[in-house]
Amino acid sequence: MSSQAVASSSKEDLNFQRIVSRQFDKAAGAMDLDQGLLSQIKACNNVYSFHFPVKTEDGLQMYRGWRAEHSHHRLPLKGGIRFAPDVNEDEVKALAALMTYKCALVNVPFGGSKGGVRVDPWRTPVDVLERITRRYTFELAHKNFIGPGINVPAPDMGTGEREMAWIADTYEAIKQGELDAMACVTGKPVSQGGITGRSEATGRGCYYGINEMLNDEASCRRGKIDPGVKGKRIVIQGLGNVGYHAASILVNEGGAKIVGVGEYNGAVWNEDGIDIEALNAHRRKTGYIQDFPGVQNSDDPHACLEIECDVLVPAAKENQITLDNVERLKCKVLAEGANGPTTPGAEEYLLSQGVTVLPDIYLNAGGVTVSYFEWSKNISHMRFGRMAKRFDTGRQLRNIELIEQVTGKPIDQERKDELARGADEIDLVRSGLENTMADAYAEMNRVMEEDDRINDLRSAAFSVAIGKIANSYAKLGIFP
Ligand code: NAD
Repeated sequence: MSSQAVASSSKEDLNFQRIVSRQFDKAAGAMDLDQGLLSQIKACNNVYSFHFPVKTEDGLQMYRGWRAEHSHHRLPLKGGIRFAPDVNEDEVKALAALMTYKCALVNVPFGGSKGGVRVDPWRTPVDVLERITRRYTFELAHKNFIGPGINVPAPDMGTGEREMAWIADTYEAIKQGELDAMACVTGKPVSQGGITGRSEATGRGCYYGINEMLNDEASCRRGKIDPGVKGKRIVIQGLGNVGYHAASILVNEGGAKIVGVGEYNGAVWNEDGIDIEALNAHRRKTGYIQDFPGVQNSDDPHACLEIECDVLVPAAKENQITLDNVERLKCKVLAEGANGPTTPGAEEYLLSQGVTVLPDIYLNAGGVTVSYFEWSKNISHMRFGRMAKRFDTGRQLRNIELIEQVTGKPIDQERKDELARGADEIDLVRSGLENTMADAYAEMNRVMEEDDRINDLRSAAFSVAIGKIANSYAKLGIFP
């Protein structure tokens, strides 16, 4: 990347909520919509902020929790729960707003919400985490901030299937007899009403999104990058839920090569490629990624951002790419797996250098998309594929027999089984997710091509989302 003088970031505004607000304003400024309507769309409707006591080894401790409800233009509201030692109200409100725009962009009929508890999930005993999660759920239920038709949490940083199972169990215990109680939360284990493919969904969505961009000729021309995922050099920041699955699928299904990985306590790189499964196993065993055979190391977690690559996937947390380090990035595509990893100043610089930024509200929408499938499964009380699988298999077999009769050529049994196989839940989830990411990319691309005022994918994504939310207000007599 050629160097162009960049101001120091010391004065850069790193407030996450103001960053999301700037992103919204940039897109809204290029739309001909009523200011009042735009203010209605942008405002965070309400935030429940509370303290609650939990018994620990050291006695009773007070914990701080939030649930922000950004928009009720569609119900229920949807958004993850973050457990982190530094989570705060501004962050939760910013994340809730992103959820609103994300859902609208990928046609998931939910409003945006987000929750958080100030706790270090990596240093807190599991029994205390369970009590925190259950008490947090109780507080939400008490104030009508959770429910299948009201507000449906999901995992985010520091939470996963285990916490979602505790939430579902607590909610069901409070709301005995509520038929759809299981749909009060998504991201549950499959054995507890979850859906196959949810834990990989955000990472898989990142893969589909990167694939869409790299398979689109105009996008590759704009980004001065050769088409196709195969052979592309990828760097991942954050080997958690999003980062690990994105890396694994980019390699195993896309044929890409991971040339660098960063974690909170260090970074590793190897131009010839890193075996991501082995690195993940090494990290689980030792607690860090350094000292893995065949890689170069640094104890500086940010070192991974400066590795030369085709696609850089920040998948850790917000404010990672700022005016302080943006000049040292050496990627052609910045694919935002995390929420809010890039500050507006840094993004402006990247765009001026011809780097393509795949924005968070598009790229990490796979999680909420599959959460929508899980919620739909829970309220229909039936697994996807249950009704059609046998029928589809039978019909396909009859078609194959017909082809054999007409051509006079037998088809071998293995190929027959593969062609006749009806779709399982995982097939339908993946196909629904891929289609969702493809449709949303096409909508963003259309805005880029048709509207001279919109020149970057984030503004295009916001523009599509704002347009859809504005339309939804027509039912209230407010017309865009
Ligand atoms: P996670 O907790 O599973 O993983 C985050 C990883 O990042 C961890 O391995 C952590 O050690 C690492 N990390 C933390 N600080 C780091 C740093 N400074 N440098 C490098 N690595 C660092 O969380 P996740 O669920 O994978 O979420 C990651 C991001 O993706 C967040 O921004 C989250 O909001 C976003 N997101 C997650 C989902 C989801 O379904 N989990 C959906 C949409 C968006």
